[in-house]
Amino acid sequence: MLQLPNIIDEAFKRGLVVNPKTLSKKEVRFFCPFCNVTVSHDGKRKKYHLSVSQVKNTFRCFYCGEHGGALKFIALLDGVSETEVKERLKEEQGLTDRKNTKAKHPAETIPLRRLEELFRFMGEENRYLEGIQKYRFYLKLPYSEPARKDYLNYIWQEWNRYLDHKRRWLLIGLIISIQSGYRYAEMIEEIRLASQKYGQDFLHEILAAYTNPPKWAEGAFITAGYFHKNLPQPSEEKRMAVAL
Ligand SMILES: [Zn+2]
Repeated sequence: MLQLPNIIDEAFKRGLVVNPKTLSKKEVRFFCPFCNVTVSHDGKRKKYHLSVSQVKNTFRCFYCGEHGGALKFIALLDGVSETEVKERLKEEQGLTDRKNTKAKHPAETIPLRRLEELFRFMGEENRYLEGIQKYRFYLKLPYSEPARKDYLNYIWQEWNRYLDHKRRWLLIGLIISIQSGYRYAEMIEEIRLASQKYGQDFLHEILAAYTNPPKWAEGAFITAGYFHKNLPQPSEEKRMAVAL
């Protein structure tokens, strides 16, 4: 039997903001990630519209009305279908019929929302068309196995390049925060959230890169230095406090 995950655990895994006062209650409240409305109807107070029932393991937003169970919750947040969520859970829980499972290319495990992000990134580099043409080709045309593999390899390569780009910019942020003594804690939090979002160990990689920069970190210190020059300089004591 498929075990449904706990909505509250899933909400935390994805960084939803909880109202801490409700943590021990039957209904735990979060900011709704579907409508993103975080204020009361009159706009005067902070309001956590999304209610998650600990008892029924269901969710409902009192603002936008989005509601459902654990599968729908994950599907909406990850931008995949409920069927895909079910398949994923079956796999995790060892319930898949081995004969029917074809080994997945890693590119096929990239969540749809992240894939859309990747295409936007490629668009900024004026290579959007290249990507989208291949994507359409992949989705609509009958394709041969080698063509499919070729496409997936291409996406995987682009995805990893995109992750390196993310790593580099997070490292630049970290360097600036360390050198200037500003927003160090926020920067660490930002890296931690990005780790969750992209399913990577960014925090560990980026902290290691600060002392021993790998290839993807090329130029990060120079770029950080350039930005840093334009920031107000903190006192020496503050700098020391951050270093410690
Ligand atoms: Zn909502």
